[in-house]
Amino acid sequence: MNRVHIKTYGCQMNERDSEAVGAMLRKRGYSLVDNEQDADIVLLNTCSVRDQAEQKAIGKAGHLNKRKRRNQKFIVGIMGCMAQNRGQDLLDSLPDLDLIVGTQKFHQIPDHLDNIIHTLQAQGPRPSTVIDIEEEKDSQNTIRNHLSDQKKASAFVSIMQGCNMHCTFCIVPTTRGAERARPMEAILEEVQELAAEGVKEVTLLGQTVNSYGLREFPFKDGKSPFVQLLEAIHEISGIERIRFTSPHPKGFKQDLIEAYTYLPKLCPYIHLPLQSGSDRILKLMRRPYTAKSYTQIVEKLRQAVPDMYLSTDIIVGFPGETDEDFEETRVLFDALRFDMAYIFKYSIRSGTPAATMPDQVPQEVKERRNQALLDILEKHSLARNQSLLGTVQEILVEAPAKRGENLYMGRNPGNRKVIFTATERLVGELVRVRITEATVSSLKGELVLGGV
Ligand code: SAM
Repeated sequence: MNRVHIKTYGCQMNERDSEAVGAMLRKRGYSLVDNEQDADIVLLNTCSVRDQAEQKAIGKAGHLNKRKRRNQKFIVGIMGCMAQNRGQDLLDSLPDLDLIVGTQKFHQIPDHLDNIIHTLQAQGPRPSTVIDIEEEKDSQNTIRNHLSDQKKASAFVSIMQGCNMHCTFCIVPTTRGAERARPMEAILEEVQELAAEGVKEVTLLGQTVNSYGLREFPFKDGKSPFVQLLEAIHEISGIERIRFTSPHPKGFKQDLIEAYTYLPKLCPYIHLPLQSGSDRILKLMRRPYTAKSYTQIVEKLRQAVPDMYLSTDIIVGFPGETDEDFEETRVLFDALRFDMAYIFKYSIRSGTPAATMPDQVPQEVKERRNQALLDILEKHSLARNQSLLGTVQEILVEAPAKRGENLYMGRNPGNRKVIFTATERLVGELVRVRITEATVSSLKGELVLGGV
């Protein structure tokens, strides 16, 4: 009864949380299985950022609960953001759930499962649903351990939890709580352990990652705690690449821009959410920057690193977004030449200020605006990929490609995925690959021998 499958929805932070829960469960004697059919316990780690993500997980949980008719001892749990957001209410549509665990209680999951299994084995009545969604001080420090059964090229490191920004569209402050930083020494220790296991690339995670430690730790020599952390990680031998996501334009100051000029391990790739190109909409969103100040950050970054790859988040169809507002977004989105972007159609999140704002935008308008930005993205993404044709890129080999014999996938410093023929031995290694084919969404290449 101890085979667990964890299915993750949503962002990298959720992926990281799932991995940490997996590591906790394994330590307690549970085994992790890739296939949900082989599992005695399925945990859904959920996302609440958009309604669609919640509906998907609810549908999945409903489907899984049907398995209980065949197997009385099968356990289904919902954890993470939707558990935090909906709590007890989830039982209205999913009365058979065994477990609902919020974002500050992940570390309690092994105990909860032990107890549920114990009760089920005692052959008594099915235990009532365990709901654990309280806040817990210092819970940010529990997302610490990694699964180290395979050679890993790259790892996520959660450096903080929560968000203090309160953008009017966003549910995250409700699901993740207020911002709490982990101590710098604990993060460095974790990265050192990862490096000792052969990990070459770390991605630091936080909702507004560049505001790391602003309340907890002092500035030193004009450098923010986040830049101090980047400098300290840069010192760790074995770590060759450092990434982070997502920074907020608000705290993107000169010290962070300059860090790119003297920290060569910092990858030239920034995911910097813009959300809108209209100052009026940014204000309604409670995003404390303007189209102009955002553009200035991009210009400075491109001065510091001419080949900087840029990615962003945009929301189309925010309440009250007029054709003129959208046109400002469209023009800026084109002018900034994003290499990558996540374009979201605004989704009403109950309890957030934007949910009750007037002038909600019809779905078909959102679809049209979404498509207009996707077309622009395609143009710039293709141009970037074509510019790489014939060049030799440094690639960190991550894993076998999803399809194709002897094909492997890795990324260049700019986070572009490249597919090429390689061998298992090269997973986790930095290799040189000449780019031979470029489409909008993919790059293919061949190993440059002698460069390994
Ligand atoms: N903390 C980051 C920030 O604010 O810069 C982003 C975190 S959020 C999990 C990821 C993205 O989801 C946001 O940048 C935003 O574009 C999108 N998003 C958040 N709430 C949304 C909503 N109600 N509808 C559509 N997209 C949303």
